[in-house]
Amino acid sequence: MDLRKGQIEPILDPNQSTYVYHLALDIGGSLAKVVYFTKDDDYFVDSEEGISNKKALEKSNGSRQYPVLNGRLNFKKFETSKINDCLEFINSMKLHFGGNQEQEIPGSQPIAVKATGGGAYKYADLFKERLGIILDKEDEMDCLVAGANFLLEVVHQEAFTYMGDQKQFVQIDQNDLYPYLLVNIGSGVGMIKVEGEGKFERVSGTSIGGGTFWGLGKLLTNCKSFDELLELSYRGNNRAVDMLVGDIYGGMDYSKIGLSSTAIASSFGKAISDNRDREDYKPEDIARSLLRMISNNIGQISYLNALRFGLKRIFFGGFFIRRHPFTMDTLSVAVNFWSKGEAKAMFLRHEGFLGAVGAFMSSDKHGLKELLANQVVQKAPSKLSFAVDKIIHGQPDGDESIECSVYAA
Ligand code: ADP
Repeated sequence: MDLRKGQIEPILDPNQSTYVYHLALDIGGSLAKVVYFTKDDDYFVDSEEGISNKKALEKSNGSRQYPVLNGRLNFKKFETSKINDCLEFINSMKLHFGGNQEQEIPGSQPIAVKATGGGAYKYADLFKERLGIILDKEDEMDCLVAGANFLLEVVHQEAFTYMGDQKQFVQIDQNDLYPYLLVNIGSGVGMIKVEGEGKFERVSGTSIGGGTFWGLGKLLTNCKSFDELLELSYRGNNRAVDMLVGDIYGGMDYSKIGLSSTAIASSFGKAISDNRDREDYKPEDIARSLLRMISNNIGQISYLNALRFGLKRIFFGGFFIRRHPFTMDTLSVAVNFWSKGEAKAMFLRHEGFLGAVGAFMSSDKHGLKELLANQVVQKAPSKLSFAVDKIIHGQPDGDESIECSVYAA
């Protein structure tokens, strides 16, 4: 079982707000992500005896840690354009009251919830008006990196490679995680060189990202949803739209520089070479070509940045990926092709939730201190660790839960 160290610090609460321990938000340009912890009452250990009966974990330095709480980390996302659905979900689950109170206590201080992403600013008033909660803003990059580090260190089989229909989980050695390049493909793309906990630099990015795929795809195919566009791309063939090396060389490879006849010479280039209108192209072929163009481009820029800083590992996150085999394969092939096999593309199981997990962790390192404080724990723990027991498969769209235990020193 993997553990992550963490020191409990006193709550510093300048606004006299009540912190909610188990809910955090990442409200991006396209999607609003919610991460929340639900505890399992049966497993709450509320006495010395209970604690000692539970199996202690021996750490490498010889100290022992005891489980004090079991529960689930839950992941959920909403389209930002439908932010009301997100508000409604939080309200219906009473997440902002800690999940167990019927309503806000009259006269009580407003509840503060950790939030990151631009929407934490844009929708601050809406959350205050509708739910009476204050969004306590955390920096987007800090959260992204903290979330990625946490998931990579703690969650078994979080990272995997994907190439040629082969998915392979990567065993991360915690002592050999850094440095790496984190490429977050959200609406836009951010590339961050990560060298350790809180040690990172945003080294590059591109505006041609997930928002471009969805926006341009919508204009070109009249798709009504992102999932519909992805579905179309499954069925399409980019050869109908892209100009290939073979189209230029009469079906032959350009072998002198290692380009096969099927390599794309110009994305969408075929559309100029004949007298056809947009309606004459199949929407699925357009969707496929677009997905390939954007994924290739991101893969190439990522590789160049990895090369710039001598990084061998590139972790891709963000909801553009959506565990889509073709997207992952294209990114992997691009990294593999340009690096001549030197660099490796890896993907994260909780791809789109990095920022939300980071915000969750920022509340008091583990976001669970209040929960413990609210319970009858005879001996207040001085240190908490967070261990993942298993991942509960959820919807195919990536919303799922992680069963986990909180350990106290
Ligand atoms: P952001 O924080 O910028 O919203 P995300 O990591 O949430 O970034 O990724 C947003 C991108 O994910 C979108 O631009 C789109 O390409 C893709 N995406 C995946 N699922 C959906 C969906 N259901 N609706 C809209 N976009 C989606």
